[in-house]
Amino acid sequence: MSFQLQIPSPLQQVQLPLLNKYGIRLFIKRDDLIHPHVQGNKWRKLKFNLIEARTKRYQTLLTFGGAYSNHIYATAAAAQAFGFNAIGVIRGKKPSVLSATLQFALSAGMQLHFVERAAYGDKASLTDKLREAYGDFCMIPEGGTNLLALKGVEEMMIEMDAEFDYYCAAVGTGGTLAGMIAALRGRGKVTGFSSLKGEDTLTAGINELVRGYTGSRYHNFNINFDYHFGGYARVQPELITFIRQFKKDTGIQLEPVYTGKMLYGLFDLIMKGYFPAGSRVVAIHTGGLQGLAGFSEYFQ
Ligand SMILES: *Cc1c(COP(=O)(O)O)cnc(C)c1O
Repeated sequence: MSFQLQIPSPLQQVQLPLLNKYGIRLFIKRDDLIHPHVQGNKWRKLKFNLIEARTKRYQTLLTFGGAYSNHIYATAAAAQAFGFNAIGVIRGKKPSVLSATLQFALSAGMQLHFVERAAYGDKASLTDKLREAYGDFCMIPEGGTNLLALKGVEEMMIEMDAEFDYYCAAVGTGGTLAGMIAALRGRGKVTGFSSLKGEDTLTAGINELVRGYTGSRYHNFNINFDYHFGGYARVQPELITFIRQFKKDTGIQLEPVYTGKMLYGLFDLIMKGYFPAGSRVVAIHTGGLQGLAGFSEYFQ
């Protein structure tokens, strides 16, 4: 597999009448363009995990995710490109038909290990069993979120080489947001848009990651839970309409699980006057576009 990364990824200003009306200068950090298979924040979060695995002479990477996980997809592609064996521990019983994401992972040489939900939740005893079955491996947590992931996200922030009033990103595990907060060391405001519904169990985890990385705690962030559209991988017609319109207006493709919800929320907040006129706002396009195929399949 060829492995050409577009780094630094472009920083693109978006021009729209609505933005002029509210006096907002909006930029998109195009991490979706980094690589067709190892996109966006998944590359950022994997990079230093791969370097660490190589340094410690691991031959096998093992990680976790669901059947539609962008992280599983990216890890499979990166493991193949860098010559690691890969094991994907997949939440849930093995389905009769594999998702497009899992088919890709298999084709990239990842071994899939299905674990029923109850056992999947008990990571300690699961890890013991996996060590018995597979021997030594470098374990990367679900979503790739750990302290090494923050280092990769910090690189993305440094790459922008510009100051903004607001930094926006979609939130799953919160690893990306934690990396942004850590990199900013209190500068600007960070707004996360949760793709998952439910009460806020993320903030504590983000604080812990940021403290682990910087030694400090920062309060210049918040997570918005108003734009999950019913929860993870749930959509509503107005979200799909928004994604189509945004593509028409800007040429930028979004996907419905993360970036579509984030930008829908961002535009809604702009129209509600959340950002003062004159604000410079950047939204991170965290990628995930390779999952679009799997997504249409999921909804058919
Ligand atoms: C995984 C993912 C996210 C969520 O990132 P976290 O670091 O887990 O919060 C956001 N956007 C896309 C496209 C993703 O694939």
